[in-house]
Amino acid sequence: MITELRCSICGTSYSPGDVEYTCPACGLAGTLDVLYDYDALRATVTRESLQECADPSMWRFRALMPLRADAAVPRLMVGGTPLYDAPRVAEALGCTQVWIKDDGRNPTGSLKDRASALIVARAVADGIQVVTTASTGNAAAALAGLAASVGLPAVIFVPEAAPEAKIAQLLTYGATVLLVKGNYDRAFELAVAAAERYGWYNRNTGMNPYTLEGKKTVAFEIAEQLGWQMPDAIVVSVGDGNIIAAVHKGLKDLYALGWIDRIPRLIGVQAEGSAACYKAWKSGADPATMATLPPISAQTVADSIAADLPRDLVRAVRAVRETDGAFVCVPDDAILAAIPLLARQSGVFAEPAGAAAYAGAKAALESGDLSRSDRVVLLVTGSGLKDIRSAMRVAGSGHPVAPDPEEVERVRLALGLPTLK
Ligand SMILES: *Cc1c(COP(=O)(O)O)cnc(C)c1O
Ligand SMILES: [Zn+2]
Repeated sequence: MITELRCSICGTSYSPGDVEYTCPACGLAGTLDVLYDYDALRATVTRESLQECADPSMWRFRALMPLRADAAVPRLMVGGTPLYDAPRVAEALGCTQVWIKDDGRNPTGSLKDRASALIVARAVADGIQVVTTASTGNAAAALAGLAASVGLPAVIFVPEAAPEAKIAQLLTYGATVLLVKGNYDRAFELAVAAAERYGWYNRNTGMNPYTLEGKKTVAFEIAEQLGWQMPDAIVVSVGDGNIIAAVHKGLKDLYALGWIDRIPRLIGVQAEGSAACYKAWKSGADPATMATLPPISAQTVADSIAADLPRDLVRAVRAVRETDGAFVCVPDDAILAAIPLLARQSGVFAEPAGAAAYAGAKAALESGDLSRSDRVVLLVTGSGLKDIRSAMRVAGSGHPVAPDPEEVERVRLALGLPTLK
């Protein structure tokens, strides 16, 4: 039911069969929006028909995704992640209501699984026999895991300096890992060249129009879980900008279908050391100018949101502008501090890029970009188990005791732990 692919910079329309990745006129910056026949969709799928669907995964929304009706989907359970009401987080942050969307619960530990599930399903439907991507971590893990679930070979280009633990996850899933002597940009270019040369299907973020179409299902789920009553704002951490653009697209799809009556403000959170989207938004630049901005040299503990050259910059800024939202920047120590705060106030353990949503909400409340009366969803994008080393820096330490009950008593008294006798 796709009607067109439309360039986010020049606005040119293409039919889906004509272009595979980005706008030929605008090059790699010309990311394509996937548009549907919403009148036809309204006639085939409704909020009520959804209620009768027993599948809790992201595929309950497959009528709103670009996949042939007869195509098989990977069986690995993606999506259907919990949305928790988090009153203690709300109290600590000082706003009316906070919900946590825990997307670290996906099979490979991050929201990226939503994109890779759709990419793998499309590859299988098209008879493609190898998938590839460049990634610093979670996108690669997601592609490796989803590809493994259907027995599809995956070739992953990673900068050789990528975190060891994240590379171990790819290797465990059986992906072929090419350790690029260079940064993410070099890995990105190599994946583009290899896909072109060998006919492999390329999942590169932003470049492949369908990663966003998979990720948008997180917005569908939030809306359905809230009974189609929209919150005031959704807070999303931003690196390449594909996730925030996807949340925006999901909300726009629902609005076009008439399933929601307004679109919440989107608050994008960037690390101070990786703030290209924030700066482009602040500068007021138009899309064509944004597409020519030079890369920055990103530096942050939140490796999943480190981006020298955000691949979906134009659409990330558009998401914030069109929803009357804002970008906020947070320093690494605030991101790290947010890991135990979020965990202790809600039970949700996030990697730094996930906890950044908490730090960002706090910053936005202080700057006035969020108000105390707002009802806010924090999108937690990745699991804390992805990056134990960062958690260890802020978790505190245990209390050594000799194997003697009197030693326990000494510690109990020192800590003020109650006795219930
Ligand atoms: C990829 C990722 C992000 C940021 O998504 P972008 O599309 O790069 O903006 C945030 N958090 C986690 C855990 C991620 O893996
Ligand atoms: Zn274009």
